[in-house]
Amino acid sequence: MALIVQKYGGTSVGSVDRIQAVAQRVIETVKAGHSLVVIVSAMGKTTDGLVKLAHGITPSPSRREMDMLLSTGEQVSIALVSMALQALGQPAVSLTGAQVGIVTEAEHTRARILTIQTERIERHLGKGEVVVVAGFQGVSSSEALEITTLGRGGSDTSAVALAAALRADCCEIYTDVPGILTADPRLVEDAQLMTEITCDEMLELASLGAKVLHPRAVEIARNYGVPLVVRSSWTDDPGTRVVSPIPKFRSLEGLEIAHPVDGVEFDTDQAKVSLLRVPDRPGVAAQPFGEVAQQDLDVDLIIQSIHEGNTNDIAFTVTRHSLDRAEAVAAAILPTLGGQMESEFMIDRQIAKISVAGAGMIGRPGVAAQMFSTLAEAGINIQMISTSEVKVSCVIDAADGDRAIGVLCQGFDISHSVVSRQRLASDAAQVSPVRGVALDLSQAQIAIRHVPDRPGMAAKLFQRLAHLNISVDMIIQSQRCRVVDGMATRDIAFTVVRGDVEEARQTLAAAALELGFGDVVVDSSIAKVSIVGIGMVGRPGVAAQMFRALSQADINIQMIATSEIKVSCVVPEAQGIAALRAIHHAFGLAGQQKIQVPG
Ligand code: ASP
Ligand code: MG
Repeated sequence: MALIVQKYGGTSVGSVDRIQAVAQRVIETVKAGHSLVVIVSAMGKTTDGLVKLAHGITPSPSRREMDMLLSTGEQVSIALVSMALQALGQPAVSLTGAQVGIVTEAEHTRARILTIQTERIERHLGKGEVVVVAGFQGVSSSEALEITTLGRGGSDTSAVALAAALRADCCEIYTDVPGILTADPRLVEDAQLMTEITCDEMLELASLGAKVLHPRAVEIARNYGVPLVVRSSWTDDPGTRVVSPIPKFRSLEGLEIAHPVDGVEFDTDQAKVSLLRVPDRPGVAAQPFGEVAQQDLDVDLIIQSIHEGNTNDIAFTVTRHSLDRAEAVAAAILPTLGGQMESEFMIDRQIAKISVAGAGMIGRPGVAAQMFSTLAEAGINIQMISTSEVKVSCVIDAADGDRAIGVLCQGFDISHSVVSRQRLASDAAQVSPVRGVALDLSQAQIAIRHVPDRPGMAAKLFQRLAHLNISVDMIIQSQRCRVVDGMATRDIAFTVVRGDVEEARQTLAAAALELGFGDVVVDSSIAKVSIVGIGMVGRPGVAAQMFRALSQADINIQMIATSEIKVSCVVPEAQGIAALRAIHHAFGLAGQQKIQVPG
């Protein structure tokens, strides 16, 4: 007999018929001999409707009253699901978040879960009842009993957190799509279902998967090792398993807030090659990386910051022993790129890559800023920055490596650091290099020109944004060093959600004089396309293949940033969908079967 947590989304409980279908499925699971806790969302578009109602009353309702209002949606669902079960002869009881004891921060409309009491649920389960729990809601503390909600889409988080607290054998997320697909099927017709994905990949694919599975839920599953499945409410198909590594032991106290960063990784076996002032046109990234892949050289970090004039700088890192061959490729390829005479390349043998990683940084501005300021306080200059959804990597001088590890472990309260390559190498065996592709059309790009190249500048910049609660996504620091008024400077570019771009621009423009940097340049017509897969670790040529696909579609790459399991490119917005289709096709992800999805 297993303990199973099942979560049903809004569409799955969207009508009387559907609620009855849910009850049937629940009863089948009980008949198979399992104990069951069911989490439900509000029916259909109820939550949207309630938001609209509130805005009909006032444009700025208080967050406390919003929680009071929005939490009612789930309360309707739990009562109806419970009644449906009882009508079929299955003992059941509905419980609100408060009744269970789902205790959260006192942050209305975006609370994170602190602890979950399990006694009451266990008592009901012991009596043979199915326990139906309201998703998306909690209480601020057992005394204050203020109703809180977890943020839109939060009932996935409720379900996985409950599964972790109850140490359930499995958490099943029932939804209106068959599982996690290789691309958004509304944009890529031949997207296919994945049978399995790791939590790390799922998190890096947040912009693809977030609608199906809330990233905070994935984070909890990963941290506590909750077996997780996403499947369709309408069929018996197995769906997609979202697998986590064997977790380190973790206390259930402070469930969602304990550690935004859970690892400091480093790699001192790296060297850097920079291609400076190469032409800004399609194909220029594809060529050198194609050549490097031909030589079977594994490239780790790749960055390309925004162009200056009509040229770009592209930099990448390789292991030290392959540097000589990488250098030979750079020397051979540069004259063929058709740039002006000033194209050149630079080699740096003495570098180290250091990263902070953790699912907890999603939606929590300030982790990157904290990393930069920790390094700055130790007087360590950052040469290269590249970020992904769950990782910030910096290239620094090799001589600073040990100190960097020490201060970061201390700053983020991490007891030990790991060597990134070794850790990932075993996972990489035999799987296809790319698991899924994603397109994010919600971001804008901001570039800051001529940021003085000295410790602490990146920290100051990103701290200001973190103060405004603005999350930064891709951060890239350019290679090109420009001397302005006798001072070495570099450009820093990054992306933010479009809604935040104006506030970010104003803040940075205001800070420009004080901090001594140049213009702040905004481009809102961008698209970010990404490939994600643990199979790309230790496999040469994956990035090159992506760049080639974009080049063949005549798409110019504006920015590049990578992590071990992800390559992201910023391209012109108008070409975003074409870019997505081109790379989905290039990696052979297309399926035979047409996947039906609603909406
Ligand atoms: N009903 C809430 C929402 O629509 C929570 C959820 O469905 O996950 O955001
Ligand atoms: Mg949802």
